[in-house]
Amino acid sequence: TTSWEGVRVVVCGFGVSGFAAADTLTHVGANVVALDERDDDGLRERATLLQVLGADVRLGAGSTASLPPADLVVTSPGWPPTAPLLVEAASSGIPVWGEVELAWRLRVEGDAPWLAVTGTNGKTTTVQMLDAMLRAAGKRSVAVGNVGKPIVEAVMDPEPYDVLPVELSSFQLHWSRSMSAQASAVLNLAPDHVDWHGSFDAYAADKGRIFENTQIACVYNVADPETERLVRAADVVDGARAIGFTLGVPAVGMLGVVDGVLADRAFVAERQTAAAELATVDDIAPDGDHNVANALAAAALARAHGVPPVAVRDGLRGFRLDAHRVAEVATVRGVRYVDDSKATNTHAARASLESYPHVVWVAGGLAKGATFDDLVSATHERMRGAVLIGRDRALIADALRRHAPEVPVVEVDSGETEAMDRVVDAAATMAQPGDTVLLAPGCASMDMFANYAARGDAFAEAVRRL
Ligand code: ADP
Repeated sequence: TTSWEGVRVVVCGFGVSGFAAADTLTHVGANVVALDERDDDGLRERATLLQVLGADVRLGAGSTASLPPADLVVTSPGWPPTAPLLVEAASSGIPVWGEVELAWRLRVEGDAPWLAVTGTNGKTTTVQMLDAMLRAAGKRSVAVGNVGKPIVEAVMDPEPYDVLPVELSSFQLHWSRSMSAQASAVLNLAPDHVDWHGSFDAYAADKGRIFENTQIACVYNVADPETERLVRAADVVDGARAIGFTLGVPAVGMLGVVDGVLADRAFVAERQTAAAELATVDDIAPDGDHNVANALAAAALARAHGVPPVAVRDGLRGFRLDAHRVAEVATVRGVRYVDDSKATNTHAARASLESYPHVVWVAGGLAKGATFDDLVSATHERMRGAVLIGRDRALIADALRRHAPEVPVVEVDSGETEAMDRVVDAAATMAQPGDTVLLAPGCASMDMFANYAARGDAFAEAVRRL
């Protein structure tokens, strides 16, 4: 363990993860300067807490203009690698860490092992399923990372954990170097956050960092060859195995589904030819394909950690999806309204659209550099119509015009007050009894809402007012 006494650390970004980093580093004795060009009451409140402890917090325009003297820079997910301060740090030879690297370095030998999950979609769900399985096995577990508690907090928590299920985004993985998960998984890969990473290849490569130094099992999706390629490219601990999961019948060394039963043919005794039966598809709610895939990935990680089949089943039986993930809001005049506000990229929106035969699609927001041609081509036959909002709605409207001129489109100006009421009214007008009005925006929400949850709430409220 290193001594942090007197080490000069500049923390870039003072959001949830930046605050956790600055707080922890101040407590271990580092000299912390935290910077954020934003400035509001919430940030100031946090700043006051840390200033009492001796940290220097600089908020507002100009505070990120130049890099204060530093031995180390710790950055936040909101900062792209091209941010001038990060470029300056790199060119002066100052190490730049993200939250994952910091948490891993703060951890001490013998601390709870990590079971790490990434992928374009399904991370939160998988980590929560995994957490439920671990708890059902009597383990002291807490889901950390993107899903709630910052990783550094869990690592510093005086309460001991047996194991940490960790949700990792591509932003966090970008700066990760020393993490050595006990087992790790990439659920799927589709274009997202291409603007932040610069290209799809760079995004995929960052996701692939999760497998580096993995100790026991690297879990990949058989249906998504890119995920397996990332396993093969990674430098893992000797003896670590590649474990595939599939919705089909599993080969030896994989997890899959046999006649409605989740079957494990990876973590069974050497000479045992039969599979271990973990649970039935009916134990998973809802049991749509992508949720079954998430359950298989979670089961693979749990099994790698030594969780018995019965705890996999009990964990799944007690599990419910978080809000705003394919959540039924109401049925009004025979039309079902579904909130999948968490579908913030085209891959998730497509999975969602493909589960309904007749849909009025509500979409739009910040596209993050995505294109909508494939999504629209694959799903337009199901569309009764589309209602578009948000800053990048014209991108979606153009794709619809090109590939599906037959689909009626209504665009709602984001600046309008009660824009969501207009959206829902327009969708209700297009829908026929038996149809589904589906909020699956394929975009981030921050142009109009605080986050995806606020967007989903606004949709649900507008539906209630119908
Ligand atoms: P993440 O944490 O990766 O954003 P979530 O579990 O919160 O993942 O789900 C995000 C969105 O992706 C939801 O709209 C959900 O319906 C969809 N989704 C979940 N799992 C998958 C999957 N395996 N493949 C495609 N879409 C998925």
